[in-house]
Parts: sequence; structure tokens; C-alpha cells
Amino acid sequence: MQRLAVLGATGSIGTNTLDVLSRHQHHYQVTILAAYSNVAKMLELCLVHKPKYAVLLAAGAAKQLSEQLPSALNCEIIDSLDGLCQLMASDSYDTVMSAIVGAAGLLPTMAAVKQGKKVLLANKESLVMSGELFMQQAQQSGSIILPVDSEHNAIFQCLPDQIKDNLGHCDLSSAGVERILLTGSGGPFLNHDISALSQVTPEQACKHPNWSMGRKISVDSATMMNKGLEYIEAKWLFNASAEQIQVVIHPQSVIHSMVQYKDGSTVAQLGQPDMRTPIAHCLAHPQRIEAGVEPLDFFRVGQLSFVEPNYQRYPGLKMAIDACHQGQSYTTALNAANEEAVAAFLDKKIGFTDIYKANAEVLNFMQHQPLDCLDAILEWDKQARRIAQGIIKRMH
Ligand code: NDP
Repeated sequence: MQRLAVLGATGSIGTNTLDVLSRHQHHYQVTILAAYSNVAKMLELCLVHKPKYAVLLAAGAAKQLSEQLPSALNCEIIDSLDGLCQLMASDSYDTVMSAIVGAAGLLPTMAAVKQGKKVLLANKESLVMSGELFMQQAQQSGSIILPVDSEHNAIFQCLPDQIKDNLGHCDLSSAGVERILLTGSGGPFLNHDISALSQVTPEQACKHPNWSMGRKISVDSATMMNKGLEYIEAKWLFNASAEQIQVVIHPQSVIHSMVQYKDGSTVAQLGQPDMRTPIAHCLAHPQRIEAGVEPLDFFRVGQLSFVEPNYQRYPGLKMAIDACHQGQSYTTALNAANEEAVAAFLDKKIGFTDIYKANAEVLNFMQHQPLDCLDAILEWDKQARRIAQGIIKRMH
């Protein structure tokens, strides 16, 4: 019986994770559920999964939950980030699904890594903000990191065991790998008139053609900043150089990413655009379990197509790739600025193309420097947010 902590339990990944877990109740036990503010959903989840701990971090949310949760469940309710991090360092679980959205996921995920836990990593921001430190900590503690993000999970599945067993510190070249091909759909604006992008609404941006996801990542898919963040994530997970990662637009989202080998072979992982597949893969690795996902019907898929990304349409993608090779302070600042800008766009305070402009201004404004510890990273994140908020206020 594997004991699971699900962080971001009320979200899109959390819901998909609990769906897969509920199909295999004899093998997995949910002991910790954590989220932010959604009391009703957390109550429903606690009644079904009966965890030992339920965590809600928004002010007043834990109190509301404790008023509604039957005492017979014997579920301890936690309301602070410190409390959640202590739980992540405890013996109350074996494996964590890290699926809190944004920078808020970093501290609890890092606490689990330091403790040598098995980490199923959906929260890509942890690697974008602190990739080097994160992979070093994992190596020191013996923590196993398994990538949940569909592209990284696909790449992982296409790589040889010698790489899988040494994520973050592997040598792609000596394993015969030429390149990782990171695929992305291009989002809802792949064929939109570029000059009209400034007018698109949050509703249009959140309407992803293939995937159903949370609102932040949906907007990031529309700008392709999500692919940029994934590029950074891939660099850290697979210890890849600039020459070893290429972004390929594949509008059908059937191929979830590929690996090209020196002998001319290309190995791809294909499947439905359903996160339960990578989640089930991580949960059961190296076994395979049923995920509730139909296999592909190739007669219905019909055609697969590929396009080179146009950086005029997706300037944020280029910005993230450049930041990746400039250093940690660039990617941390970009992640923070982008979170603020996307939130402002979703609140209709700024336009769609202002997201990119705000991010660029933040990166230009900051005096970049090496970040060698978690405190420095968190302080840098705060600083970037303050600057981004000022820029957004001016744009509003
Ligand atoms: P959602 O917006 O659907 O869910 C976010 C979850 O995080 C919710 O449970 C929310 O709680 C919780 N949360 C938000 N802020 C905080 C906070 N400050 N402290 C604690 N919990 C918080 O996001 P997704 O599920 O789409 O994404 C989660 C992560 O997975 C992201 O990092 C994303 O990039 C990554 N990912 C997502 C994919 C997808 O298909 N959705 C694919 C690949 C990666 P509450 O609801 O209670 O407010």
C-alpha cells in the first residue's frame, strides 16, 4: 500500500490524480489532501478519501472546513504553509503529487524532496524557479522525481533506463540521444491574426483546443509561455543543453513529445490528451496500471502535422528559452512576472499582449545575479512580483 499526499487536490491535476487513485484503492491510500480555498470541494474529497490530514491555506478556509467535516473522520485540519511543510517532512506519506499551481508549490515540494520522498512533479514552477538547487537536493536525499507534465512524462518514457535512473545528472549524449523534441499544440491562437492578438479575451485564451486545464496554464498555453516553462523544466530534468532541446508545434496533441537518437531513430509517446495517462504512469512506474483513458484510434486521428514556432506570434516562448540559458535569476523573475501578468489578464486589467510586454520589462529592469539558496530565490521572486505589479498598475 503506497501512501499518497495530493497537493493541489482541488485542481485539475489533483482531480485527475484522485480519479486514477480511486480505480486502485487496494494499492494506494490518500493520507494528505492539500489545497488553498475551495472548502466545498475539499469537504467532498475528505468524505470520499478519508485522509489523515486536510490542508487549506487561504485565510479562514480551514476553519470553515473544520466546522463542516464530521469529527468521526478523525481528520486533522492544517491551515498554514509551515504546517504543510512540516507534514511534507513527516512520515505520514510515501509519495507526493505536487500539483499546487505556481510558485506557491515550491516550498512544500522542496520539503518533500529534502526528506527523500518520491515526488510526482506537476508543479513545473519548482524547477523553473530553482532547478539547479532542486535537482541537487534530490540527488543528496535520494528523492525520486517523476515528471507528470505530459511532455516530460513522454520524454521520460522515450529515454533509456540509464537516463531515467539519473534524472538531472544524466548525460544524454553518452546515451546516444541527439535531441529532445518538445511538442506543443500552439494553443487557441495558432492561426489567429497576430495583429488582433491584443484584443483577445480571457475566455478565448482559456479555450484550449485539446486539453482541459486550470486557467493559469491555459493562458500560458495560449502565449506558449507554458512551452517556455516546459523548456526550462526539460533542461533541468534531462540535463539538456540548448542544442539538445527543440520545440515543435503539433496541433493535434497526439504525440506528447519525442526523443531523437544518433542512429536516426525518433522515439515518440502518443496518447489521448488526458492527464490521467501520465499521472497513472508516474504512480505505477515501472509497472503500468489502468487510467480510465481509451487508447488512440488511429483511423480517427487521421493526420498528424508539425509546424515551426513563429516567435512573432509567441514572443514569450523565445523569452523563456533565452532566460533558460541566461541563468536562474532570469527564469525565477520571468516566472514571477508571468504569474502576476497572467492573473492581471484574467482579471481583465491588462490585454493579452501586455503579458509579454510586462514580462520583458521586469526582466530588463532587474539587476540579475546568481541565486544560490532557497531564501535568495524566494526574495528574488518577491522583488520581481513587486516590479511586475508596478508595471501592471501603469498599464491598467
Ligand atoms: P488548477 O488551477 O486547476 O489547480 C490549482 C490547485 O492549486 C488547486 O488545488 C488550488 O487550491 C491550489 N492552490 C492554488 N494556490 C495555492 C496556494 N497558494 N497554496 C496551496 N494551494 C494552492 O491548476 P492545475 O491543476 O491545472 O495545475 C497545477 C500544476 O500542474 C501547475 O503547476 C501546472 O503548471 C501543472 N500542470 C498542469 C497540467 C494540467 O493539465 N492541468 C498539465 C501539466 C502540468 P484551491 O482550488 O482550493 O484554490
